[in-house]
Amino acid sequence: MTTFDDTLQRARSAFASGKTRDINFRRKQLENLLRCYEEHENDMINALEADLRRPKQESLVVETELLKNDVKHILYHLNEWVKPEKPSKSFVNLMDDVQIFKEPYGVTLVIGAWNYPLQLLLVPVASAIAAGNCVVIKPSEIAANCAKFVADVIPKYLDNDCYPVVCAGPSETAELLQQRFDYIFYTGSTRVGKIIHAAANKYLTPTTLELGGKSPVYIDKSVNLRTAVKRILWGKLINCGQTCIAPDYVLCSKEMQEKFIVEAKDVLKEWYGDNIQSSPDLSRIINQNNYQRLLGLMKSGRVALGGKYDASERFIEPTILVDVKPTDPVMEEEIFGPVLPIFTVENAYDAIKFINARENPLVLYIFTSETEVQNLFINGTQSGGACINDTIMHYAVDVLPFGGVGMSGMGSYHGKYGFDTFSHQKSCLGKDLAAIGEKLASARYPPYSDQKSSL
Ligand code: NAD
Repeated sequence: MTTFDDTLQRARSAFASGKTRDINFRRKQLENLLRCYEEHENDMINALEADLRRPKQESLVVETELLKNDVKHILYHLNEWVKPEKPSKSFVNLMDDVQIFKEPYGVTLVIGAWNYPLQLLLVPVASAIAAGNCVVIKPSEIAANCAKFVADVIPKYLDNDCYPVVCAGPSETAELLQQRFDYIFYTGSTRVGKIIHAAANKYLTPTTLELGGKSPVYIDKSVNLRTAVKRILWGKLINCGQTCIAPDYVLCSKEMQEKFIVEAKDVLKEWYGDNIQSSPDLSRIINQNNYQRLLGLMKSGRVALGGKYDASERFIEPTILVDVKPTDPVMEEEIFGPVLPIFTVENAYDAIKFINARENPLVLYIFTSETEVQNLFINGTQSGGACINDTIMHYAVDVLPFGGVGMSGMGSYHGKYGFDTFSHQKSCLGKDLAAIGEKLASARYPPYSDQKSSL
C-alpha cells in the first residue's frame, strides 16, 4: 500500500457517492473557498512575502483579489454553465432531443507551481469543484510557506474527502502519479510537464499542461516608447520576473534598442529610486538554485543596465543585456528572472522569422500602433496567446482562454474555459419509441435493398 492509497480511496468513494454532482454542494464548497480567501487574506499575503518577499500590493492584485474574483465569477455563472447544451439540429433530428451534458471526470489532480503558488493552484481547483469533480490538491513544495498555508487552512473550509491536500516533493509526486486519476491539471516547467504527460499515459488520463517558454516582445518605432517601456518593464519585474508570461526578450531595431535603454533607466529610477536593492517594491529570487542559474544567464552578451546582485538576499537588479547571440544560454533557456536581453532585428519580418525558428511561446507581445504589423504577427506566428501594446493583462481577462501551444502547453482554463476543461462533454441523442418514428427509421434494418437505400 502506498502513502496515497487511502487518500485516493476516500476521494473515489466520495465521487462515487454522487455528492459532488449536486450543484448546491458545489456552490457551498465554492462559497466556503471564497470565505477562506476573505478571512485569510493577510495570512496569504504574509506567506507570499515569506516565500518571495512579494510586495503586498502585488500579492493583492495577482493572487488574493484574483482568487476572490475567480470564485465570484464562477458562482455568478455556474447555474448557466451546468445546463445541458442544446445545439441546433438538422432536419433528420427535428423530432429528437439532442443534448450535450457537462459531466465531471471524477477524481482529478491539480499540481501547482511555486511562482504564483496560491492562484496557479487554487484557480484550477475552483474550476474542478465547479464542474463537480473531486480534487487532490498538490501545492509546490518550493514555496514552502504557501504550501503550509494550503495544507493547514484549505481543509478547514472544504470537504476533506472530496478535496484532500497532499504535500509532496518530486519523488513523492512521482509516487502520487502512479495512482489512477481521471484528469490531471499541471502547471510548471516543460521538462516536468513531459514527466506528467508520460505518467498520465498509463491510464490515458486527459491532461492540461500549463508550461513555460520564452515569450518575445516586438517593438517598432510607431509606439509611444515611454508607455511601451513601462508596460514591458512592469511585466518583466512583477514577482521579479518569475512569471510564466513575463516578457522574456525584446526584438527591435538597433535604434530602438538605444532609446529603450535610456527610457528604461529613467523608469527604473522613478519606480525604485537610486538604490534598487533598498526598494520594498521588488520581490526576491525564490531560492539559491534559481539565483545561481540567473547569474549564469547574466554572463551572456553585455550588461547595458543594472547587473548588480547580492546572494545574502537573493537580490538581482533589473538588468538589460545587449549584444546577445541567438545561441547564448540567455536566448535559449526561459529566463524567469529580472534579466531582459535585447536582440536587434531589421524589421517585423526578421522578428517573425526569429520567433518561428524557436518553440511556440506561451504569449507573444507586439508593441506597434500599425494594425498591419499587428496582423502580420498574429497571422504569421503561433503562440498560446497574444497581447498587443501591453503585457500580462490578457491573463486577467476571464472571458479569454489561457494556455500554451506546443512546448508551452496544452489545454486552457480561466472562467468558463476552466469549467469546460474539467467537464467531459457527454453527447446524448434522445428519441421516443412512437410508431411513426419507427416506420421512418425502419429503412436501416436488414434485409437491405436498393429501394430502402434510396428512401
Ligand atoms: P516545476 O516543474 O519545477 O514544479 C512544478 C510542480 O511540479 C511542483 O508542484 C513540483 O512539486 C512538481 N514536480 C517537480 N519535479 C517533479 C517530478 N520530477 N515529478 C513530478 N512532479 C514534479 O516548475 P516550477 O519551477 O515550479 O515553475 C517554473 C516553470 O513553470 C517555468 O517554466 C514557468 O514558465 C512555468 N509556469 C507556467 C505557468 C503557466 O500558467 N503556463 C505558470 C507558472 C509557471
